Amino acid sequence: MIGILGGTFDPIHYGHLRAAVEVKDRLGLAQVHLIPSAQPPHRTLPAASAQHRLAMLQLALTNHAGLVADDREIKRGGVSYMIDTLASLRQDYPRQPLLLFVGADAFSHLAAWKQWQDLFALAHIVVITRPGYSNPPLCSFLTAKLTQRRQPLSENLAGQLYFQAITPLDIAATAIRQIIAGQLDPAFLLPDTVIDYINHQKLYHPIDQTGN
Ligand code: ATP
Repeated sequence: MIGILGGTFDPIHYGHLRAAVEVKDRLGLAQVHLIPSAQPPHRTLPAASAQHRLAMLQLALTNHAGLVADDREIKRGGVSYMIDTLASLRQDYPRQPLLLFVGADAFSHLAAWKQWQDLFALAHIVVITRPGYSNPPLCSFLTAKLTQRRQPLSENLAGQLYFQAITPLDIAATAIRQIIAGQLDPAFLLPDTVIDYINHQKLYHPIDQTGN
């Protein structure tokens, strides 16, 4: 089984990283692909460039076997739609169940995603808990996909909806960008190697909001 965690990763932080490790271990995944979007469809442009966000992700994943920094959305360019990303992953892994992880915040906007119902033809969707966000009521389409058991995730290549609780870490990239812009210390919210990169490249600092 292959896990997928898409995001802006602007920057990557321990909320993402801990989630990836926990779902990998708890669901017995071979790999979790962390996939930074080139241009996220439903939000303003990221503060840091795609190259910087990928570089930070690669630094964060150094020495973490099974967590993969996957640059397919950045290579593809343009607006990053998950339906295209899953189609590309399905080509790479024709016989493995794909598990798309989304935080409870992202899941509440699922119906706005391009061809959202078709996502289930390519992958399972696993909603992970996030502090401050509760699960929205499910429409009949989603209720029909819901499973309370893990077994259907490994027995089918795609098509199920599952909820997975993870250690609650109330960390958000927006707050980290604000901390850095306010010249405060973001230590222990994200890896030191990433903080060093941010400082060296002057990302998110008040004097350089260009992201270049
Ligand atoms: P921002 O504050 O810029 O919106 P973010 O911290 O929410 O960023 P994203 O890159 O947008 O990070 O998130 C990628 C995915 O990881 C989403 O599915 C999101 O719900 C999930 N996620 C992010 N932070 C956490 C967290 N602390 N706990 C659980 N899931 C998280």
